Amino acid sequence: MWSLFKVALVLWATHTIADGRIHSDSSQSPPMGGDQILRGVAYLNSEDGSVYGRLRLDQFFAKRAPTHIYGNITGLSAGQHGIAIATWGNLTKGCGSVGPHFNPDLMTHGAPSDEHRHVGDLGNINGQEPVDITDHKVSLFGRNSVMGRAVVVYARPDDLGKSESGYSRIDGDAAPVIACGVIGRSLTDEFYR
Ligand SMILES: [Zn+2]
Repeated sequence: MWSLFKVALVLWATHTIADGRIHSDSSQSPPMGGDQILRGVAYLNSEDGSVYGRLRLDQFFAKRAPTHIYGNITGLSAGQHGIAIATWGNLTKGCGSVGPHFNPDLMTHGAPSDEHRHVGDLGNINGQEPVDITDHKVSLFGRNSVMGRAVVVYARPDDLGKSESGYSRIDGDAAPVIACGVIGRSLTDEFYR
C-alpha cells in the first residue's frame, strides 16, 4: 500500500516539476518541492462558547515523521484535561457526533507513550498552559491521517487506560467532551493570519 502511495507521489511530483508551476488544486495534494511540511489547523469551541482555541498540526512529509500539535485553548479549568482525536469531523450534533477515538488498528485506549493505544490518544493537557504535543502515531497523511477528523478536549483527566473504570479502556474515563474542532488542511502560515 505504501509503495503504491510512493509511486503516486513520484508521478505527482514529476508532473508538478514538469510544468514548473503550482497547481491550483494543490490543497488536495501533499505540498512538495519547496514546502515539505504538511499542515493542519483546528478551531475548537465549546457549546456555550466559554472554551475556544486554535491548534496547529505540522508534520514533515516523511514516513513515521512525528506530528507537532500546538496552540492555545482558552477557558479550561486548572488541572489536567484529556485530549484526543476522534474518528469523525462531523459536528452535526456538536461534539456529540464525532464518534470514538480514532482507532484504525483496533486497539484499546492507552497513553501516548504506549505501543497499544488508539492512534487518537494524546493523553492530557494542562488547562492553564499552551498545548505542545509531539506524537509519533498521529499523521497528516496515509493510513493514520487525522485530516478531517476532530480534536476533542475533555472536562476530566484521561486515566490513560490504567484505571478500573469501565470506560478506562474506551476513552480514559475522561468524558464529557467540553470542546472540539475539525482538523482542516492548511498549506502555509498565510492561512493562519
Ligand atoms: Zn483512546
